[in-house]
Amino acid sequence: TPTLLWYRRDLRLSDHPAWHAALERGGPVIPVFLKDEGVRMLRTAPAWRLGLGVGHLAETLAEKGSRLILRAGPAEHAISQLVEETGAGAVYWMRAYDPVSVERDTAVKAALKERGVEAESFAGHLMFEPWTVETKQGEFYKVYTPFWRAVKDRDVETPLSTPSDLAPPSEWPESDSLADWALGAGMDRGAEVVRPWVQLGEGAAQSRLGAFMSSKVEGYDDGRDIPSQDGTSNLSENLSLGEITPRQCWHAGVRAEEEGKAGAGTFLQELVWREFAYHLMWHTPRLLYDNWREEWAAFPWNEDERRSEVIAWKRGRTGMAFVDAAMREMYVTGRMHNRGRMIVASYLCKHLMCHWKIGMEWFEDCLIDWDPASNSMGWQWSAGSGPDATPYFRVFNPETQLDRFDKKRAYVNRWIAEGQKSPPDEALAYFDAIPRSWAISPDDAYPDPIVEAGEGRKRALAAYENRDF
Ligand code: FAD
Repeated sequence: TPTLLWYRRDLRLSDHPAWHAALERGGPVIPVFLKDEGVRMLRTAPAWRLGLGVGHLAETLAEKGSRLILRAGPAEHAISQLVEETGAGAVYWMRAYDPVSVERDTAVKAALKERGVEAESFAGHLMFEPWTVETKQGEFYKVYTPFWRAVKDRDVETPLSTPSDLAPPSEWPESDSLADWALGAGMDRGAEVVRPWVQLGEGAAQSRLGAFMSSKVEGYDDGRDIPSQDGTSNLSENLSLGEITPRQCWHAGVRAEEEGKAGAGTFLQELVWREFAYHLMWHTPRLLYDNWREEWAAFPWNEDERRSEVIAWKRGRTGMAFVDAAMREMYVTGRMHNRGRMIVASYLCKHLMCHWKIGMEWFEDCLIDWDPASNSMGWQWSAGSGPDATPYFRVFNPETQLDRFDKKRAYVNRWIAEGQKSPPDEALAYFDAIPRSWAISPDDAYPDPIVEAGEGRKRALAAYENRDF
């Protein structure tokens, strides 16, 4: 009987344990992607990037004589329908760890088993399954450094090869058309601007990894903090949709370390930050939607998104050049340098005293590398409400950060057009990407700070000192 290979955030053929298991089982393999509730819930840029990724995967499969069958509807229904139509005896998939997916997958598995259909999930989105890393007391880790120590010497399995024969069936079930799904339709004209920055599919991801290891990793220790330099791997976009696996990255990092390349060790530690985020999300799913430290519910956050400061922050018009440059970088490229992420998050949560959820959701609207675990951990880390977070009283000063990490103003000049005689293309692209209703133009005067660095810091610290927890 055929095996249904249910694709989700694992858009690749290499290092894909579910594919290997399906081929080993024998019989034809029918790859499927569903537009279920989880996909419907995605916000704009992640949905759009997923659409591109799914389209690319469908082409890759077609080149190899297979296909990607698309179906819409609740997963349990769509899968059982396909089992019915194809006579499939097994459904295999790669495991997901967020609470919505876990609930869905548990229900699908139970329903399939009841019908006598084999259902199995495989590990691969992470290197270390979240429940396998425990403290001596049998608890989960809440602090990164001991988590790192617990995993750093573990064996990480060698990545699997790409299957050559994809065992297509002689007859295919019907498929929806991806164009009809209109994933990420809200990108409107912004899509044209962001598209050239996208690196789609597993081939591009492997090239990124190769380029990073051959020319960037040695300068990574310092370069990764300088947002005007392309000093990081940029792999988050591909990791987010499983176009590359963390263990492929890990093994490349270990090889670079063995070759004595500086920076490789730091890269491995960064990959483990991603694992740590998933570890936290798995053990405490509220990381995604509520203060991880529950006492923070009593903090006097501004929660009204319509406030003018929030609008200025989203539009890159706070008058704080580092903040504005980073917010615009995100709008044009669908990505933001990590230093920028920390600075804009600190400015929103501390200087503007706005709830971290407002920022988290805006990132979720704009990022093509959106990842539920890393995004919420990053926001709660920045706000001070998360585990192993930066304390609330440590306020990033967006002006002194500029002197440390953008001394020559290369980054802010790349992204902020206002005030420049001949602004670079990137700065102008911003105005092509944003909705017309924002009514801002490169000829406007650059605004004065909506909240000064010193004044905002004082206000945030006073609120923190007066908190009643
Ligand atoms: P590199 O420096 O090349 O690092 C390699 C990989 O390590 C990354 O691709 C990523 O998978 C992982 N990694 C690095 N730093 C972190 C980190 N701090 N936390 C978790 N994993 C990390 N990352 C996302 O992938 N998606 C998000 O939605 C996201 N939102 C964030 C929000 C905030 C407020 C903050 C402070 C950070 C967020 N990050 C997020 C983490 C980090 O900024 C990005 O992973 C990183 O900038 C991606 O660039 P890169 O691939 O070039 O990273």
